Amino acid sequence: MSTIKCSVCGEHYEANNIKVLGHRDNIWFLNVSCPACHSRALIAATIKEAEPSEGVTELTEAELTKFVEASPIGADDILDLHAFLQEFDGDFVELFTRK
Ligand SMILES: [Zn+2]
Repeated sequence: MSTIKCSVCGEHYEANNIKVLGHRDNIWFLNVSCPACHSRALIAATIKEAEPSEGVTELTEAELTKFVEASPIGADDILDLHAFLQEFDGDFVELFTRK
């Protein structure tokens, strides 16, 4: 993961700059923010299947089930998110009280 560089300034991302949004088969969608220039990016990364090992996860079984059952992120979701962010004025109070 630390081999991924910021496309803006070339800084390497660190584990705590990376948020996993979800995955479809071996393609993982990551939300990264650069520690140096704070630019954000969406990254689709292909992860090779490794030998199944002793599970190392901070997720509870219920959370794992939830993520496994959640529908994969598709291009439409990314487009929706993009459109949403362009419209969104940052007012979360208004967002969550909207009827
Ligand atoms: Zn950067």
